[in-house]
Amino acid sequence: MLRNDQMDAWDRENFFHPSTHLAEFARGNLPNRVVTGGNGCHIEDRNGNRLLDAFSGLYCVNVGYGRQEIAEAIADQARELAYYHAYVGHGTEASITLAKMVLDRAPDHMSKVYFGLSGSDANETNIKLVWYYNNILGRPEKKKIISRWRGYHGSGLMTGSLTGLDLFHRKFDLPLTQVIHTEAPYYYRRVNLDQSEEQFVAHCAAELEALIEREGADTIAAFIGEPALGTGGLVPPPAGYWDAIQTVLNKHDILLIADEVVTGFGRLGSMFGSDHYGIKPDIITIAKGLTSAYAPLSGSILSDKVWKVLERGTDENGAIGHGWTYSAHPIGAAAGVANLKLLDDLRLVDNARDMGAHFKQALIDAVGDHPHVGEVRGEGLLCAVEFVEDRDSRTYFDPSRTVGAKVNAALLDRGIISRAMPQGDTLGFAPPFCLTRAEAEEIAAKLGDAVKEILG
Ligand code: PLP
Repeated sequence: MLRNDQMDAWDRENFFHPSTHLAEFARGNLPNRVVTGGNGCHIEDRNGNRLLDAFSGLYCVNVGYGRQEIAEAIADQARELAYYHAYVGHGTEASITLAKMVLDRAPDHMSKVYFGLSGSDANETNIKLVWYYNNILGRPEKKKIISRWRGYHGSGLMTGSLTGLDLFHRKFDLPLTQVIHTEAPYYYRRVNLDQSEEQFVAHCAAELEALIEREGADTIAAFIGEPALGTGGLVPPPAGYWDAIQTVLNKHDILLIADEVVTGFGRLGSMFGSDHYGIKPDIITIAKGLTSAYAPLSGSILSDKVWKVLERGTDENGAIGHGWTYSAHPIGAAAGVANLKLLDDLRLVDNARDMGAHFKQALIDAVGDHPHVGEVRGEGLLCAVEFVEDRDSRTYFDPSRTVGAKVNAALLDRGIISRAMPQGDTLGFAPPFCLTRAEAEEIAAKLGDAVKEILG
């Protein structure tokens, strides 16, 4: 086996790591980790460390590591037929079966699923289809997309534009002009602290309405949002938010895309976030939980209303001019079928709901009273702890103090992987759905120690 120092040199000389400080990494000032194995909620690295992964990779390994059922399904598919395309009516048993399994689990009014590879490319597909839809309906001006500040929808040209985080725009000439952003439903960080939750929801809806009026409803095609904000801070919406938003969108004939890349397939303790919050989307984006990241696969689930217009479009214009070589890749599809079956067989969505409630309470018990903990929040197995300088005056830490990153590092020293979210001092937790009570309590107890070490 290659020596660790040789592997380290190759890594720094050759490998462009995503979302990494490139210069510091190349200089050797940032640590690397070569991950070699995983089982349940734990991963192992080349130095022999065993870590409890309380973020499921990038909140995607929902069924946990080391699932042999999925590995076998992938191996069987690779031996039988590693690849065939899905163009012009082709498919495999795996891709056809998975499409049915997805639709069986999706909200009733959904009709078809297109398979891609990543959450980013699925959202690119969605925007193209929305534009096509409005062209077929004879509304060529109705093209802009509204997204929320702090929303995360990928890092392509269009999807990086939809993402409402400065880091993904700066120096990349984004956002593109077709994308406009509105307020995030982040009640804890509201500007007017006197607002009740109900008033804040009314404020978000009024902001959206004002934006639509400024731009002109006949120029706006769709609104995209995660049922619960993910990378922008792990924030469940205030009660009534989605009802209020949908009322505005329906009034102006604007399509709704629910980006369920994180929330799809159980993360909130319900199969879809749309069911969880009573959202009736026209399109749903899925990825991560579709295969629990055992193979790359994403999807765009289309409602009957959208699908009918696409069919009409092909009657008028011929075959749809959209597709990837790897759309509905058989290996990804086989992984998806095995993954969704496992989710059912082990009742993992129920565990996400029940263990999520227990985990959140354990986090509250461990750090909820700490003077620098502003909020402990969560829904299902998507939880966050937000640190503040002062709770009463709601003063936030200066970002240069990197408090969230420091607590994250102190927790890692104790063998727990959490995620310092990119904007604000928020520590994120999204463990695999097979999390046990003992593991939930271990994470909470070690978080208590890490917070004490960094914040006293
Ligand atoms: N949408 C949401 C809500 C996400 O959280 C992510 C990734 O984290 C994406 C889209 C992009 O997915 P990918 O990284 O697979 O392109």
